Amino acid sequence: MPLEIRFNCQLAGGVHARPASALEELTARFRSEFSLVNERNGCRANARSVLALVASDIRLDDACRLEIAGPDEQEAHAEMARFLRERFPCCDNDIPTVQPPGEEFSLPPDLRESTMTYWRATPAAAGIGLGRIVEIEPFELPETLANMRPLGAEQERRRIEEGLYALNAALAEQAARMPSDAAAGIVAAHQAIARDPEFRASLIEAVTAVGLCAARAVAESEAHFSRMLMATSSELLHQRVLDVQDVCRQLLDKIYGEAARRSEAPLTEDAICLAESLTPSQLLALDRRYLKGLVLFQPGTTSHVHILARSFGIPTLTRAVGLTGRRIAGELAVVDAEIGLLATNLDETARRYYAMEQDRLRRRQARLLRLAEGPGDTSDGQPLQIAANISSADEAACGVAAGADGVGLFRTEMLFMNRDRPPSEGEQFEEYRRALYAAAGKPVIIRTLDAGGDKPLPFLNQPVEANPFLGCRGVRLYPRHEALFRAQVRALLRASVFGPLKMLAPMVSHLDEVRWMRRIVEEESARIPETGQQGKRHVPLGVMLEVPSIAFALDHFCREVDFFSIGSNDLLQYFLAADRANPGVSGISDPLSPGFLRLLKKAVDDVHTHGKRIGLCGEMAISVRYLPLLVGLGLDEISVAVPAVAEIKAALARLSSSDCSELLTAVLRSPTAREAAECLDRFHQQSCDPIVDENLILMSSGSRTKAEAIKEIVDNFFVQGRTDRPRDVEVAIWQRESVYSTGLGYGIAIPHCKSDSLRADTMGLLRLDQPVDWGSVDGQPVKLVILLGLRESSPKETHMRIFSRLARRLMHEDFRARLIEPCDPASTLNALQEELELA
Ligand code: PEP
Ligand code: MG
Repeated sequence: MPLEIRFNCQLAGGVHARPASALEELTARFRSEFSLVNERNGCRANARSVLALVASDIRLDDACRLEIAGPDEQEAHAEMARFLRERFPCCDNDIPTVQPPGEEFSLPPDLRESTMTYWRATPAAAGIGLGRIVEIEPFELPETLANMRPLGAEQERRRIEEGLYALNAALAEQAARMPSDAAAGIVAAHQAIARDPEFRASLIEAVTAVGLCAARAVAESEAHFSRMLMATSSELLHQRVLDVQDVCRQLLDKIYGEAARRSEAPLTEDAICLAESLTPSQLLALDRRYLKGLVLFQPGTTSHVHILARSFGIPTLTRAVGLTGRRIAGELAVVDAEIGLLATNLDETARRYYAMEQDRLRRRQARLLRLAEGPGDTSDGQPLQIAANISSADEAACGVAAGADGVGLFRTEMLFMNRDRPPSEGEQFEEYRRALYAAAGKPVIIRTLDAGGDKPLPFLNQPVEANPFLGCRGVRLYPRHEALFRAQVRALLRASVFGPLKMLAPMVSHLDEVRWMRRIVEEESARIPETGQQGKRHVPLGVMLEVPSIAFALDHFCREVDFFSIGSNDLLQYFLAADRANPGVSGISDPLSPGFLRLLKKAVDDVHTHGKRIGLCGEMAISVRYLPLLVGLGLDEISVAVPAVAEIKAALARLSSSDCSELLTAVLRSPTAREAAECLDRFHQQSCDPIVDENLILMSSGSRTKAEAIKEIVDNFFVQGRTDRPRDVEVAIWQRESVYSTGLGYGIAIPHCKSDSLRADTMGLLRLDQPVDWGSVDGQPVKLVILLGLRESSPKETHMRIFSRLARRLMHEDFRARLIEPCDPASTLNALQEELELA
């Protein structure tokens, strides 16, 4: 009879790779056999195999039984009992928990009849995209390896053995260099998989018994163990598939070297790409002509892959609930990053709905583009340059076409990704020259290489770092790769003769770094004429303000630096000590936290005192919500993803700089981010737009149902900038509409709501080409819809006054005739203003 230890799992995330590897490590000290039984599902696992342990799907509170039998079972039993009591329950202390999308979700009314299949998800980049699902397998063999013929069982077995040996040695070396427990834990989990007896047995069996080559054996084992993990019900264990894939990728690398790296199959039609996670370089490798949407399981909103997705305008979802493990490759799907869902099996209702949605977004963008044509000024004439963030020369043209006043941030590291070696000086020169040409005389700020952090470049051979964001990143890499940096500087200097180019240094923490850079720039600048080429003698050199310390030494920096750009993404993560890619601490990285806003204010004031310019190019600038604060700060420029340029410019024109400074003063007095947010909300609620204007009157509509008609009017509110949350407004309308019909007879309906999702009290009018059923009191279909949306916080009298006057006037045939008979928006507006005394 084996000895037994019974325990209940107290790990919130269940037994995943880290606790499993801790358990497995202990088994290695004994010669006995260990079996762990999950009594909930009857799964029995060899406790010497991390993979088997993890696949036994042990969750919080599961009753478990560890059986021990063998020559040293007494000793093992005592040691294991202590371990399970004392260390095992704490294995998991630093696992972040991520909130799933709220439960209160319900489909918009016009989609409720649809039979489509859908999964809820969290939007990370707005928009609607339609295409066929392409699953990007995080692990797939490169073609060269996939077609490889086995050399013979013995040779292939040797390859596996040697590969595993090299991998284990490399991991052991890595583990020794890990200074923190968390980082060491991850490497330990990888080590545990690499030496897992079942993993090894599966590889060896594949080459000896099945006759596969080593590459295929690795691929088969990866698929086998990933399937095993996916078959469990824990989302956390599903994510552990990444560990298996990582180890398999590293193993292939050890066996085949360079040949083991693969690039994705090209997209050939409109596609929605589905991936566990993507690196920035994997995203850049996808053909953006066809990439219509992304669904990533990796959470977060300021990690570089999400920033890129937003900057390319690719609707992106993360954490699709319940989708893990479903095979939907090849199906036609919609990524709806407006309400947060992925849908397949689209029926006629869904297709019509999404056609309307795409139309709504197109029309809003077209309107914003018209508004963005002028210079970026507030309503009282304070200038604020709105520039574009880009990562390639092609995007510069799109930015300028969208109304950008130039390029505020060219992230050049993207040119260095997906390649075995860096781009040559000539290639870079051509790219920078093209960006300047596209900007047509507007300033272009080009940031020198910002590799490291979450943008490692394989050819730099950087050592593994426990905290890459605090490691060798940005400017810190240049002295180690001086030739690489000099080549980029030469390319920039040569390009500078084609337009107003400025250089921007990332991740600066000390003035010495700037001095070093300036020396190199000057040396290269002096050398350029010797090579028979041209370059400007002086190119402005700016610094990213993203390491907080420099905000307290700006007087020194201002003497030697030409301009500054606040990288709010990194500044927030370093200032508030919260990893930008870790969703577990995303609530801490709040730009409204009082200390952070004061830091920004101090930085802007200090830089201006010394007569220099300062902009902001992080994700904070993309939000219309924060815009009044950025105006209040008195920044000279903000730089945003290309798709946001027009919207920000249009929003800027609505703001008064004096109101914004008052707001900032009030917000800076708020002791907490929550109170600052309340202050900001109150500011946004004060709007003096008229309740109705010509653009809110739609003279002809093809809507076929009541739901479509309501959606069409509310979508137009969105297009006209009256709401950013049209679905919330619709929900508020339907809350009333489902209780009683607003069809008041005579072919007229007056749906209405109160909702603070509206920027201002708004009335919209829609004349239907074909009358639609509304459940009206007289049973007649409706041909005219007047939708009244008032803000929750508007005085009660406003609602009563407008609504009752409208209802009263509609009793009169002459008023109805003025609205129903064909005419133009101007005369309809006139009729409304006169009869309802709106003017
Ligand atoms: C930032 O940190 O805000 C920034 C703009 O740089 P990146 O996001 O590329 O690190
Ligand atoms: Mg940064």
